[in-house]
This record gives sequence, structure tokens and C-alpha cells, in this order.
Amino acid sequence: MLGAKGHSDWRRRFPTVVEQLGGIDDTLVIEAARDLEINGRVSNDLGVKLLLEADLTDLRLLGKALKVARFEEEVYFNSNLHVNPTNICVLACRFCAFRRGRKADDAYALSVEEYLSRIRPFSSRIDEVHSVGGLHPDWTVEHYAELIHSAKKAHPHLSMKCLTAVEVKHLSSMSKMTFVEVLSTLKEAGLTSLPGGGAEILDDEIRNIICNGKESSDEYLDIHRTAHHLGLPTNCTMLFGTVEQAEHRIRHLDRLRKLQDDTGGFQCFVPYPFLPDRSRLPQAQHSTGSETIRMIAISRIMLDNIPHIKAYRMNIGDKLAAIALNSGADDVDGTVGHEEIMHEAGSMTSVEDDLDRLSRLIEDAGGVPIRRSTIYNRFQRYIRRPPSDDDRWVALPIAEGV
Ligand code: SF4
Repeated sequence: MLGAKGHSDWRRRFPTVVEQLGGIDDTLVIEAARDLEINGRVSNDLGVKLLLEADLTDLRLLGKALKVARFEEEVYFNSNLHVNPTNICVLACRFCAFRRGRKADDAYALSVEEYLSRIRPFSSRIDEVHSVGGLHPDWTVEHYAELIHSAKKAHPHLSMKCLTAVEVKHLSSMSKMTFVEVLSTLKEAGLTSLPGGGAEILDDEIRNIICNGKESSDEYLDIHRTAHHLGLPTNCTMLFGTVEQAEHRIRHLDRLRKLQDDTGGFQCFVPYPFLPDRSRLPQAQHSTGSETIRMIAISRIMLDNIPHIKAYRMNIGDKLAAIALNSGADDVDGTVGHEEIMHEAGSMTSVEDDLDRLSRLIEDAGGVPIRRSTIYNRFQRYIRRPPSDDDRWVALPIAEGV
């Protein structure tokens, strides 16, 4: 039965799907498929070889087979809104085009009323607010608790997915509270889950170059572990294409899957490439489209215990997202409504608030569009009406497990 994590017997199912999709020739990819089937996991050594040497077509085929074995042709999206409470930040990560100093002309910090006024026009058609931002020099846990509580009070149906790990760390230091105390306070205020931003590359030498002063890799994992123990599901991410090597990327994936072995609290992994516009990292490698697709496939292959892999349209664009859906990804995020972080860095992706358009993107890529909740409960299947009906879509309710 298909549930929020897909078919539980995907390991038994995927070799058949590989054959149905045409089979694999590349010896490294064959070895990876065999390891997943027999040993349950691909080693870091093989992961590095896959990343550097494997045939991309076969790698994509295995990524797709693993996705189809778990989720069949379904592709997930939600109806959400991004609201960034402030772009003022005490740090200056070298890849970040979003942050501003307090005195910058375009620096902003939303009051509670302004925050609510961003949500209000979208409230009736969204089910999630995704809220991350800079590390404001004055704001404490109380301010975020008020933001979240006020939003939940005004719109009880909304799921509040707020705060990256570095924001949690900042609040812990501003309010002199432990991570458990910060997250418990915010959960009580209405926080429902954490996004995964800020993982960058989980290697402290790389972090010292690209985001000096941010939480350490151990702290990132510790904050997510704490959230999981408190019953807050989280996502996790990777920013690739700065100054890291293949080994760093694979170790990053391994650290995430080890934490997932312990807690099971990660819902979705979101890999995205560095976007260079207006940032300060001239030595960055940048990523080609092929490399981005390779990372999507590798993520699906290495992260055998994290159910969802996201093709983050806001970063990689709709065209690459469509290819990613045939390379291992099963999720395209949501309607978004408004986005600053990736667009400040050069993203051109539409933030049009249009479920029909999102459904068309998914169906054109060969998928079945499924609207989901924050925690991946599947509640609507989108079906295209005949073109004579203006290419409109209808949303049919689906019962979980069907
Ligand atoms: S990435 Fe986050 S913590 Fe780093 S400068 Fe930008 S807003 Fe601040």
C-alpha cells in the first residue's frame, strides 16, 4: 500500500522496475543496485565512484527505478507560501546573496502584523507556511513564538515549517536556552516542522571557507536530532558546487543517513547547486545541469532510508526539475507564492501561485500529480480535463493507503 513513505517493500520491487525501464550496463551502477538489493546500502567508497565515474544514463535509470519502486508514478507537491521574516543577518556566508546588514537600504524586518499580512491573502488556498530568514541581532525566541502563535491563531489550518538549524542556534544563544528549550517553546507556539536549510556541506573545513560562523556540522545534526526527539519532522539539504570535493558530498549523505537510522525524523532531502549571482565565492566550481541531475540520482541511491528526494524548482528551474523527476526525485516542493533567497542569487523560476501549472509540469514529465500535506499525507490527485475545457485540472480526494 502507498503511504506517506511509499511502498515499504521497495527493495523487493526495484530490480523488476530496473528491467522494465530497460536494464543497466554500467558495472558501477550494477554493483550499486546489487548492494541495495542484497546488503541494503551503498558504501561511501562506491558512492564516490558513482559520483565521479558512473554512466549518467544508467545512474538516472537506477535513481528512477528506486523512486518508482517506492512511489510508482506519483509526484508530490504542496500548496505553500514562503515568508522570510527578515533579511538582516549577523553572519555573512560567502554564498549568500540574500542577507543584508542592518543599515542597508533594502534591509527589512517584518513586524508581527506585517508577517500576518503576507500570509492573509494566501491563507484560504495554502496549507503550509515555509518561513526562514536572517539571524536578526535583536530577535529572541519570544519574537518567533509570537510570529508562529499569531499565524496559527489566525489560520489554524496552516502547518508552520519554520527556522533552519542556524536560526535555532542563534535563538539559543540570544535567549540563553538549550536547543531543546528553544524547539519546545516554538513547538508549543505552533511550530510543526523544520525545513532543512543550512546544511550546506557537513564538513567543518568546507564550512569554514563558505559559511564561517555558522553552526558546525555536529550542531546541524544535533539540532535536527533534537527536533526529531521532540516529534518535529524535518527536511535536510545539501548546497553543492562551491569548493567541496566528491568525497565531501558523499560523507555528507552518509552523515544524514546515519542520523536517520537513529531517529527516522527526516522526511525529505533537498540537494541544490550553488547559484553564483551577487555572491562572494569566486573560487566556486558551479554545477552544470548534468551534475545537478547526477546529484539527484546519487541522493536517491545513497539515502536508502530518507523517503523523499526533492527537485527544488526555486533553485534548479522547472526544466531541470522535470528531468530530475525521471532521475530519482519524487517531489517538486510547492506553489511557493513568493521567494527571495534563490531569486536574489539569480533564480528565474516562476513563483506563480498556480496548482494547474504545477500539475502540468509533473504530468508532462510522466508523473501523476499528488497534492500532499507537510508530512506527506496524500490528499488530492490532479487530473487534466479534456483540452476543450481550457486545459483545467480537477482535484480528486484520495484516501491514504490507496
Ligand atoms: S545563509 Fe543564512 S546565516 Fe548565512 S548569511 Fe545568509 S541569511 Fe545569514
